[in-house]
Amino acid sequence: MAPTAVVEVDLKGQLPKIASGKVRDLFAVDENTLLFVTSDRISAYDVVMKNGIPHKGALLTAMSVFWFHYLQDKIPTLKTHFLTDALPESLETSLDPSLVALLRPRSVQVRRLHVVPIESIVRGYIAGSAWSEYKKLGAVNGIALQAGLVEGQKLDAPLWTPSTKAEAGMKDENISPERARALIGDGRIAREIERLSLEIYTAAASRAEEVGIILADTKLEFGLDEAGDVVLVDEVLTSDSSRFWLKATWEENLGRAQPSFDKQYLRDWLVSQGLKGKGNVVIPEEVASQTAARYREAYQMLTGGEFRSK
Ligand code: ATP
Ligand code: MG
Repeated sequence: MAPTAVVEVDLKGQLPKIASGKVRDLFAVDENTLLFVTSDRISAYDVVMKNGIPHKGALLTAMSVFWFHYLQDKIPTLKTHFLTDALPESLETSLDPSLVALLRPRSVQVRRLHVVPIESIVRGYIAGSAWSEYKKLGAVNGIALQAGLVEGQKLDAPLWTPSTKAEAGMKDENISPERARALIGDGRIAREIERLSLEIYTAAASRAEEVGIILADTKLEFGLDEAGDVVLVDEVLTSDSSRFWLKATWEENLGRAQPSFDKQYLRDWLVSQGLKGKGNVVIPEEVASQTAARYREAYQMLTGGEFRSK
């Protein structure tokens, strides 16, 4: 029997729940600290599936933690929301041990911040919605690109292609960098978000390249702290927020969709079944386990460590 996926996270009222996103549940530890719990839920085309991917929350958490350490080392001036991957003492002692075992690999404590309402996407390669826009308009987020690019091609330089951060149930919308700057409002903050996003992408892409993975694109989020500084928040450089391709087969697959270690497998299945964007979808066990295998492979290649499910 396949392991069960954790789609509901219930702390039995031990900490107040602040919010539930498509994948994460946020609880208040104190006024400045959140418990950031990643469930096994999976969304595609902005819709959450009925069942989850076993161990996905633990994999994404471990991957984000790896990157927080890695980025901190490579970019010492970077501020991040990450505090610890330990649970608050109070939960360790008050919750049932089976619930603690379930929470521990899925949780981090983070600084509670005001999140800037922009998805800060960086693309080194052209794929997904950027490829669709380019095919139609020869541009990506309104930025004109040279003619003749093929799907999956490397861009001359990484491109900042922000999107809106839509309310629940709505779709994020790609916007021009100018519009993103206007939405952010403060020029200094906007410039800093763009600069940091490109710096983070470049550092992570070079790590990925070393282990045979192409980081085609990634989505970052930022918050602001009490000092007014821009802080990296949310998950970072996971298979949910990034496109990871196999470097060895990239060239032979130029001009079509690349084999990838991310949600693409699930997206392709949804499209093949005519289920794109539909609600109440139950993922068959085979598709769930294939998706899990890809997430696990990405984790193991990128971090160089074995993933042990607890
Ligand atoms: P969204 O489009 O809002 O990201 P989502 O469905 O992807 O929705 P989840 O990833 O499930 O959301 O939940 C994480 C939520 O927590 C996001 O809304 C994110 O902006 C927010 N968040 C991330 N880091 C912090 C932080 N340090 N302080 C407060 N909120 C945060
Ligand atoms: Mg999210």
